[in-house]
Amino acid sequence: MPAESNHHRPKTVLLWFRKDLRLSDNAALATAVDEGTTVIPVYILEPSEAGTGPLGAAQAWWLHHSLASLAASLKAGGSGLVLRRGPAAEVLETLIAETGADAVFWNRRYDPPGIAIDKAIKAGLTERGITVRSFAGQILHEPTKLKTAAGGNFRVYTPFWKALDGSGEPAEPIPAPSRVPAPDEWPKSDTLSDWSLLPTKPNWAKGFEAEWQPGEEGAQTRLADFVATGLKGYRTRRDFPGEAYVSKLSPHLALGEISPASVWHATRGLSDDYSAEDYIHFRKELVWRDFSYHLLFHFPDLATRNWNEKFDAFPWHDNPGLLDKWKKGQTGYPIVDAGMRQLWQTGWMHNRVRMIVASFLIKDLLIDWREGERWFRDTLVDADPASNAASWQWVAGSGADAAPFFRIFNPITQGEKFDPEGQYVRRFVPELKAMPDKFIHKPWEAPLLVLKESGVSLGKTYPKPIIDHGKARDAAMAAFQGLKGE
Ligand SMILES: Cc1cc2nc3c(=O)[nH]c(=O)nc-3n(C[C@H](O)[C@H](O)[C@H](O)COP(=O)(O)OP(=O)(O)OC[C@H]3O[C@@H](n4cnc5c(N)ncnc54)[C@H](O)[C@@H]3O)c2cc1C
Repeated sequence: MPAESNHHRPKTVLLWFRKDLRLSDNAALATAVDEGTTVIPVYILEPSEAGTGPLGAAQAWWLHHSLASLAASLKAGGSGLVLRRGPAAEVLETLIAETGADAVFWNRRYDPPGIAIDKAIKAGLTERGITVRSFAGQILHEPTKLKTAAGGNFRVYTPFWKALDGSGEPAEPIPAPSRVPAPDEWPKSDTLSDWSLLPTKPNWAKGFEAEWQPGEEGAQTRLADFVATGLKGYRTRRDFPGEAYVSKLSPHLALGEISPASVWHATRGLSDDYSAEDYIHFRKELVWRDFSYHLLFHFPDLATRNWNEKFDAFPWHDNPGLLDKWKKGQTGYPIVDAGMRQLWQTGWMHNRVRMIVASFLIKDLLIDWREGERWFRDTLVDADPASNAASWQWVAGSGADAAPFFRIFNPITQGEKFDPEGQYVRRFVPELKAMPDKFIHKPWEAPLLVLKESGVSLGKTYPKPIIDHGKARDAAMAAFQGLKGE
């Protein structure tokens, strides 16, 4: 359903890249190449106050490399990428004046501030006779398309999944254009390094480089590898953070280096070696991303306001000291610390562990979920305004289709169940490397001799638990029961 205005054959199209940093399955690009005499690809670094909060530092690292990769791909196709910085409306006006462009194309975004910006730009440009066309592709189904049987918006995931799954397969991905018709003269571009998206002193992103290949090619390689080796067994193994049964596609999806339709497409027509349980489960996870956008679209304050207003009265603890220990992975609970350190070192954390650390912050430390949302937004390479906010509210119990508050993750039993040999903990908490499996998730219960033999001195080489989980659980339940209406 491309929203169109003044549909005529444009001479020069400004192709505005946003969270769609790819050439394949990019409807705006494909149409611009089909219809425009020349196409000028542009990326605008918009001021943070215009968007959904500031661009997090980890994602800024990713964005730098992703833009470099996109520019290289465009160059290989005979084109280039113009980089500009500033409010998008002003930048587009300037570029139109400089290039004589008569059209602007983009793929739609679904975060509320982004939508507001785009609407205003579209109205302003259309009024001046510039063709503006926008296209779908960031999610599988646009938030306005899927409706409940009663014609309303979804609040619960399962009926959403059923509606989405029943509404037909996403369209076949559009191939990348082999050439992008370039202008005779290029407008000036900023230099990527001048945007200072990379950390300098200290370079905390060193661990990212070994882990990731930002850009479209990296995304496609990641998808192919996952389908070849991780998808078989996904349903049962995806919860084990020490194993490689998840796709790690989230940062690529967050900046649109690969379309969700392409990811879905890769799970079609698989050989009999694949069990439907695995790929359907994988699709269901992918659809949580769509569901999160559905929620954000219909509840724009998802990152800042409790969906369930009852939680407005929750007696959160303001405790910067404990918050800091959580951020640094120094809580004394190995699975929590491993997760927080994986996040810091690699910019990503396994989903099971995200739930454990989030539950720990909210329900053991009684710290407001918004503190966690903010920290994740700054440190995740896959930071996403919809998935992050929806997931934090899910864990808090304040969300639309949330886990009930009384579901409090026990960091010891969760560790024992999902990291039974401590593979994951040993990788990210090396000071516990030599602990026997029996005590890897509760070193404080180990006899002194075992601690000694493992080179662990609690309180010195590794912290003692910053809180007693059992007591914390009781305190959380008491706080929750104190809320009106419970
Ligand atoms: C507290 C918390 C915060 C989170 N913040 C984010 C975030 O900022 N950005 C983000 O992309 N995901 C977020 N998630 C969801 C989920 O943890 C990640 O999407 C997932 O771990 C990414 O790893 P993967 O690509 O290997 O996932 P896979 O298991 O391979 O799943 C494939 C894709 O499906 C989507 N997906 C899977 N699970 C979810 C989910 N629960 N919610 C939404 N989409 C999902 C992702 O796009 C993912 O790349 C958060 C979860 C929690 C509990």
